[in-house]
Amino acid sequence: VFNHVVRAPEDPILGVTVAYNKDPSPVKLNLGVGAYRTEEGKPLVLNVVKKAEQQLVNDRSRVKEYLPIVGLAEFNKLSAKLIFGADSPAVLENRVATVQCLSGTGSLRIGAEFLARHYHQKVIYIPQPTWGNHPKVFSLSGLSVKTYRYYDPATRGLDFRGLLEDLGSAPSGAIVLLHACAHNPTGVDPSLQQWEQIRKLMRSKRLMPFFDSAYQGFASGSLDEDAQSVRLFVADGSECVVAQSYAKNMGLYGERVGALSIVCKSADIASRVESQLKIVIRPMYSNPPIHGASIVACILRDRQLYHEWTVELKAMADRIIRMRHQLYSALQERGTPGDWSHIIKQIGMFTFTGLNSKQVALMTAEFHIYMTSDGRISMAGLSSATVPHLADAMHAAITH
Ligand code: PMP
Repeated sequence: VFNHVVRAPEDPILGVTVAYNKDPSPVKLNLGVGAYRTEEGKPLVLNVVKKAEQQLVNDRSRVKEYLPIVGLAEFNKLSAKLIFGADSPAVLENRVATVQCLSGTGSLRIGAEFLARHYHQKVIYIPQPTWGNHPKVFSLSGLSVKTYRYYDPATRGLDFRGLLEDLGSAPSGAIVLLHACAHNPTGVDPSLQQWEQIRKLMRSKRLMPFFDSAYQGFASGSLDEDAQSVRLFVADGSECVVAQSYAKNMGLYGERVGALSIVCKSADIASRVESQLKIVIRPMYSNPPIHGASIVACILRDRQLYHEWTVELKAMADRIIRMRHQLYSALQERGTPGDWSHIIKQIGMFTFTGLNSKQVALMTAEFHIYMTSDGRISMAGLSSATVPHLADAMHAAITH
């Protein structure tokens, strides 16, 4: 009965790793998936995560019972404080409904499902380009997906005028997906002044901000700085939806730990919203897993561990920024034609190189370097030892 099933294509991002794994070359390099690697090219488990796990193991009173549908209450409270700020009136006034979800993706999905059921506008505007999973998550949740201009290939920067025009002509009440920081795939973020203009425009048109915060602390190295865009919107007292992921900033990728927060106008509304989020979650996966959220709660509740986390986080962010400078210098040394300053200007895990799919294909075929066909490279997958190889490949692709 399944004979008619046709083979589906590999996921465009995860498929890069599949191809990489099949390549026997010793010089192969995977710059596709956005996962942090050390200078030695190894995945990293943060020290604070190891310490928190040790605490959990030593705690004999811990059991493996089901969590509530909304997850670990302490984790939810601490996650809201992390993104909105401990002194945020929305948090202090209990106007935020926060539920633990399956990392960033699960948080986006639950948020989108909730909006599709309970929000009057079913249109969501996503930036062009954006993370490849966004359009699928939103359309399968029952929202209708449109795009707004974001990136200008000519300047390799923000198309701010295009963005304002497109949001300005969106229907009143439309939902707008915003990357809180470290826009994926472009690495291009609005300045704080530009965020303020975006906020003013969106509030005047009653557009609903839906923030995707997958890189808090990873962009600048500062948790507060990377939350500024979100906090700007929450400070005006209006509604806001935020999906948070701990995949990158705590290195908890496979633990699938994240949170969805819906900021409401009153505590009473927030509690009704939470009751409806439970109705969305229960038939999907019943309740979220306990381990990852317990690690996060351990770290966020403990002053010392929290401090150690910020130090480790900054070290990861700084290493990525160092890779940007090294790659930029390596291209300068080779005299690679073109202006490569965007490599050091862009923010976060990725550089949107501007290489086209043909050039990417050449780099894969001849240099065994793997990346998405849009020319996005994960700076976190680079090290001082591999930068020259990448620079050689880019030089060859450009001068081919
Ligand atoms: N949003 C963006 C912009 C991302 O880059 C990612 C991870 N690549 C996610 C959401 C979701 O990640 P996860 O589900 O692993 O938290």
